[in-house]
Amino acid sequence: MLKSLIKLTGQNVIFPFYHTVSDSAPIHIKNLYRVKCEKDFVNDLEFLLRYYEPMKLSDVKSYINLGKKRTKPGFYLSFDDGLSEMYHLVRPILISKGIPAAFFCNSAFIDNKDMFFRYKISILIEEIHKLKQSAVKNIEAFLQTQDIKSHLLSLKYGDINTINSLANTLNIRFEDYLQQNHPYMTTAQLVEMKKAGFDIGAHSIDHPLYADIDKNDQKHQTQSSLAAIGQITGTTDRIFAFPFTDFGVPSSFFDGVQVDIIFGTAGLKKDQLPHVLHRIPMEKGSLSASSVVCKQYLYYMAKSFFNKNVRKR
Ligand SMILES: [Zn+2]
Repeated sequence: MLKSLIKLTGQNVIFPFYHTVSDSAPIHIKNLYRVKCEKDFVNDLEFLLRYYEPMKLSDVKSYINLGKKRTKPGFYLSFDDGLSEMYHLVRPILISKGIPAAFFCNSAFIDNKDMFFRYKISILIEEIHKLKQSAVKNIEAFLQTQDIKSHLLSLKYGDINTINSLANTLNIRFEDYLQQNHPYMTTAQLVEMKKAGFDIGAHSIDHPLYADIDKNDQKHQTQSSLAAIGQITGTTDRIFAFPFTDFGVPSSFFDGVQVDIIFGTAGLKKDQLPHVLHRIPMEKGSLSASSVVCKQYLYYMAKSFFNKNVRKR
């Protein structure tokens, strides 16, 4: 079926992306989404290799330069957030299978200097699970909610003071968590990844939703993280992946930043701007790559009837 879907839609290049792979979900992620185990991840890769050729960044550039045309079906794999499982687990798997990939990192989190606010929320939820009922009641009163988990999961980038003061109340020190668990890759690991042929890209400084911050901050988050990645890896490639989504980002943003390729998260979708490519989120509960990718093609076809399969700028 997939071969016919590729033919029907003419979309023979896909950009699947993940965050992490682990047989036991780390505390900073386990309360946010289901993590793929190593076996499922390897099955995903084998599925992708059956239908598509792995592409390098230079292949992606040629694809763009040729007007988004390519003879054979291809995929360019990427991973967001710069997590340490990339170095320890994903890197050796990709090397053994000969699959190139890009890793998009937040400059403020490299070397475990700080942490994504949603990871802090997952740690808080985990600690709250351990509390006695009376203590939970106090937190409900403090947050003015009756459903702590949903309330915490709805907090945004701008709510960092609430997150930090709740951590203080619970006696949680995120610095200690970072030092003990090393959730992120280090500068040395990133340099080694680059030397091994992987692409390292930017993912903003500290992972805000771009629609939630103003134009100047959007530009600063982008340029500054690109500069940091360039400095660490020595790369001249300027590739950037939006944190969360590009949805709600004004078209003027794209004129104001110097980026070779920008990656979004809108699934199988075209973009009016030639250098903006949309990726398929592969972590969809227990779904295999085969189901996720086939669904994306069907959805793409459905959207094409309403002319909704192109992101307009
Ligand atoms: Zn991210």
